Amino acid sequence: MRLPFARLRRRETGAGALLGLPPHIDACLFDLDGVLTSTAEVHARAWKEMFDGFLENWASRSGDPEEPFDIERDYESYVDGLPRLDGVRSFLASRDIHLPEGTDGDPPSALTVHALGNRKNILVLNKITEDGVQPYPGSRPYLEACAGAGKARALVSSSANAGEVARASGLADLLQVRVDGETIAQRGLAGKPAPDTFLAAARELGVPPERAAVFEDAEAGVAAGRAGGFGYVVGLDRVGHGHADALRAHGADVVVTDLGDLLADAYPPPPPSTTDAAGGRARGRAASRAGRGR
Ligand SMILES: [Mg+2]
Repeated sequence: MRLPFARLRRRETGAGALLGLPPHIDACLFDLDGVLTSTAEVHARAWKEMFDGFLENWASRSGDPEEPFDIERDYESYVDGLPRLDGVRSFLASRDIHLPEGTDGDPPSALTVHALGNRKNILVLNKITEDGVQPYPGSRPYLEACAGAGKARALVSSSANAGEVARASGLADLLQVRVDGETIAQRGLAGKPAPDTFLAAARELGVPPERAAVFEDAEAGVAAGRAGGFGYVVGLDRVGHGHADALRAHGADVVVTDLGDLLADAYPPPPPSTTDAAGGRARGRAASRAGRGR
């Protein structure tokens, strides 16, 4: 049975207390996009470059002028959140443009749905390599604190580009194991909300699920953490609008807005003249934070 986090925290001593984790956690399993890094803006720019090149070419063939891709309106309305090929189809339909489907192996210069998808993927990988990816503010400090506390660390992502993104963000050296889209394809693993990818990462780290924590920003991800019997599930709410409640409903033990919120030094130090009383207040706030997420 799980102990309430506030009780765990009071009993907690040593390095675990600095990380906002119960004391029985030996390994941390991190999702990538939305937890450690944000690549949404990189994807939006790659979509625009790909579609603008295509639209110019299309206009020169058809003789009809084409408005460029609007990185806010068109991205949000037709592309954001969709699988890559669905994004291509959806935007083309909005312009009443109809292309043959083609196949996976189409060269990026071909005029097919698959070719445009391939071209977008090449552009996004180039941007990730050339421009880098910004981690969230708390990502590196939290990973470094985990490493300093001797916690094992894995990256668990559905993306086939997770390795490139982790390297471009400068966080790859802090992650000991990676289970990503390539691993899923090679081993035939089930994706989230099935717990298979997190279980595979824990196994590679040599830590049983009940001693591992899952960090996720998606409902399917926290559900995977709960389904796998993991020892603690941390939800990351980057969007607001009730997302924190949804994460709790799907299995998060606690919800924070950034990994830095979990670090003990995120709390202001007590004033020197009232050390004991202020220490008590800080512990109370920590317990109240934890209580908020249950
Ligand atoms: Mg995510």
